[in-house]
Amino acid sequence: MPAFRFVPMEVVPHGVAPCGESDLLRLVELAGRTAYKSEDRITDDSARAFVLMLKKQGHLSVLEHSNVVLSVRSKVTTAGHEMDMAAIVASIVMALGPRNSFHRLCLTPGPRPESFAMAGSVRSWIETMRVMETMNAPCHGFLARHLHGLFPSLFESPNGADQGWPLEVSLMTEVEQVDLLRKHPTTDLPLFVMKIVCDRGITHELVRHRVFSFTQESTRYVNYRNRGMALILPEELQPFYDPEREVFIQESSPIVEEWIRRAEALFAWYQGDVERGLRPEIARDILPNLLKSEIFVSGRWSGWEHFIRLRDSRQAHPRIRAIAREVRKYFESIDLTIDGTGD
Ligand SMILES: Cc1cc2nc3c(=O)[nH]c(=O)nc-3n(C[C@H](O)[C@H](O)[C@H](O)COP(=O)(O)OP(=O)(O)OC[C@H]3O[C@@H](n4cnc5c(N)ncnc54)[C@H](O)[C@@H]3O)c2cc1C
Repeated sequence: MPAFRFVPMEVVPHGVAPCGESDLLRLVELAGRTAYKSEDRITDDSARAFVLMLKKQGHLSVLEHSNVVLSVRSKVTTAGHEMDMAAIVASIVMALGPRNSFHRLCLTPGPRPESFAMAGSVRSWIETMRVMETMNAPCHGFLARHLHGLFPSLFESPNGADQGWPLEVSLMTEVEQVDLLRKHPTTDLPLFVMKIVCDRGITHELVRHRVFSFTQESTRYVNYRNRGMALILPEELQPFYDPEREVFIQESSPIVEEWIRRAEALFAWYQGDVERGLRPEIARDILPNLLKSEIFVSGRWSGWEHFIRLRDSRQAHPRIRAIAREVRKYFESIDLTIDGTGD
């Protein structure tokens, strides 16, 4: 019979969301399968079909763990003219309207911008293209043609005409995105992805950060009777626990015995409910806040910076503070730093 166990918290940085199609699809699949704990079904070629299934079913939030950054450059025409990039950016901003917040759009910094970059998750781009098409926005045909050219399985071929603008479009690499961010923080183009293992009480605090994207292990679909129940190791048990071997050093301590007794009682209640026919989504009512949960969290530097300022603070819950500190360490490792610790 599967048992319950205690596990430590964990922050696993997945770094900058990849720009190439196959890595992009693989990351979205991994995030999506976290919800159902079906990672064991990942194969070398399962990602494309999985992501297309999500798209077809309209589960587009999982596609937010991706970032497509178009780098657009002016070609010199035979007449020697270049396009006015500021005017093109202004027309795109106009067409985006309230959807602007789902993208990042910037002229390449410099005295005479001849290029611009535009970022958005696959979800943002899919929905933006639909809105722009409905509005007959002048930039729609141009953007849609290039998105389809770069990611034919994810973006449909545009119906309408392209303006034939003399512009070159390529994908900005992860390294280029981060270099630009370090030099010009307002560009904010890269998307940083973290997998966090923590308790459901803390995931509830994480999901309050609305500018992030989330995909979380589902207590509706995961059956803990079959898988066993994992609880995050509470602070008062840490002195008795060996995280390397994942065992209690002193199981005979009264506090450890008490926790084990309570956890066994809760798990027996859950198992009993599933055995008498309740679906996991109903039986979950008795699962504790301390239940281990896996969650993918994606956001841009501006969002993570705000998160660290709020959560690496004495006012924050110690466990979300521990997460914020790990997140801070990751960003420091790539030379993105924030002053102060919030103490
Ligand atoms: C120490 C601490 C104690 C807390 N206690 C409680 C509590 O008791 N009860 C409780 O309910 N919550 C509590 N919270 C959660 C808190 O209220 C926020 O929901 C959470 O910190 C997310 O912060 P945020 O809204 O700034 O971030 P995000 O949601 O990530 O937003 C980032 C930024 O985007 C902008 N933004 C996003 N959405 C909107 C919007 N709809 N309108 C305008 N601007 C927007 C704002 O500029 C905002 O700063 C607590 C948080 C902390 C750190």
